[in-house]
Amino acid sequence: VTTGAADRVRARIDLAALRANVRALRERAGDAGVMAVVKADAYGHGMVPCARAAREAGAAWLGTATPQEALTLRAAGIGGPVLCWLWTPGGPWREAVEADVDVTVSGMWALREVIGAARAARRPARVQLKADTGLGRNGAPAADWPDLVAAAMAAEADGLLKVTGLWSHFACADEPGHPSIAAQLAEFHSVLAVAEAAGVRPEVRHIANSPATLTLPEARFDLVRTGIAMYGVSPVPQLGGPADFGLRPVMTLSATLANVKRVPGGHGVSYGHHYTTPGETTLALVPAGYADGVPRHASGTGPVLVAGKWRTVAGRVAMDQFVVDLGGDTARAGDEAVLFGTGEHGEPTAEDWASACGTIAYEIVTRIGARVPRVYA
Ligand code: PLP
Repeated sequence: VTTGAADRVRARIDLAALRANVRALRERAGDAGVMAVVKADAYGHGMVPCARAAREAGAAWLGTATPQEALTLRAAGIGGPVLCWLWTPGGPWREAVEADVDVTVSGMWALREVIGAARAARRPARVQLKADTGLGRNGAPAADWPDLVAAAMAAEADGLLKVTGLWSHFACADEPGHPSIAAQLAEFHSVLAVAEAAGVRPEVRHIANSPATLTLPEARFDLVRTGIAMYGVSPVPQLGGPADFGLRPVMTLSATLANVKRVPGGHGVSYGHHYTTPGETTLALVPAGYADGVPRHASGTGPVLVAGKWRTVAGRVAMDQFVVDLGGDTARAGDEAVLFGTGEHGEPTAEDWASACGTIAYEIVTRIGARVPRVYA
C-alpha cells in the first residue's frame, strides 16, 4: 500500500507550520505555558506526529479528550505532562495513573474511581479538578465544588492523589464581548479561591482555549489549551484569518483528477441530477467524497481550485467522488484539485469550506476521513 502524493486524495500536513504556530502561541501566552490539544487525531491532522512536533516547539502539555488517546501518546513513547478530560464510569483509570497521565475529575463518581485506581496501582494519581463555570457540559457545578474539593484534599492527605490542576472551559470565547465570558472568568476566580482556601496548591490553573488565548489576556492563568489555532485555523474568523494572528494553516487537502470529459448541454450530474450542464462543457471528476470527510452539505457550494480557478462542486457530493464543471477550461486526469490549504496559492481555505457548508472550520479538518493518507512534510 502506498501512501504518498500519488494517491487519489491526500492531506499534506506541514509540521513546520505547526511548530511555528506553537511558537507563536507560546509568545502570545506570555508567562503561561501552552497545552497542545491533540484530541480527535489532532483535529484530523494525525495525533502522534503532531504531538511530537508540538513538543519539539515547546508545548509543555498535551491535551486529549479520552484516556485512550492519552494512553496512545504514551504507547508512542511520548513523555511529559498529558491531561485527558472525557471519562465514563469504568474507564482505564488505573492505566492512566500508571502511565502518569493527569486525569480530570468533575464529580464524586470519578473521584471514587480514581482513588480505587490509585490504591490498585499503589501510587498517587495526578488529578485535575474541573469546574463548570457556565458551559453546562462537564465540570462540577458551583454547588458541588466545595465538597468535591474537600474530598479530593482528604484523598491527597491520605497519599492517594495530588491535585495538580484546577480548570474550566468557556462557552462563548469565540464571540469576544459575549457577557458569558466575563461571568465565567469571575466564576473561575471564585472556584479557585474556594479550592485554594481548602489548601489546594495546583501546578496549573487554566480556562483559555484558542479564541481566549488570542483575544483575552486575562484568561491565560498558568496554561492555555490551544487546539484549532495550533492547526493554523482562525478560531475567530470574524476578527481575522490565521495570518492576522501570525498562524499558518497546517493541512492542505488535495486530490488527483480521475476523469475529465466533454459533455453536451443538458447533461445531468451526480445523484439526483441537482446540476445540469448549461451548455457543452468539460466535467472533471474529483475522487474524494463524504467517506473522506468532504461534507455532503458542500453539494453545489464547496469551492475547489482546479486548472487555476475556483470551481464549485457541481451537484451532489457522493461517498467517494464529486464533479466540477470546468466550463471552457481544460484539465487532464492526473491534474491536482486543491480543496483547501493555506490560501497562498489561490486555493480555498478550511474557513471557505466551513462557510460554504454552514459549519465551522474545526469540523472541516477534523472530519477528514481515516481513508485519506496524511503526508507529513
Ligand atoms: N479545552 C477543551 C476542554 C476542549 O474540549 C477543547 C476543544 O474543543 C480545547 C480546549 C481546544 O479548543 P480550541 O480548538 O478552540 O483551542
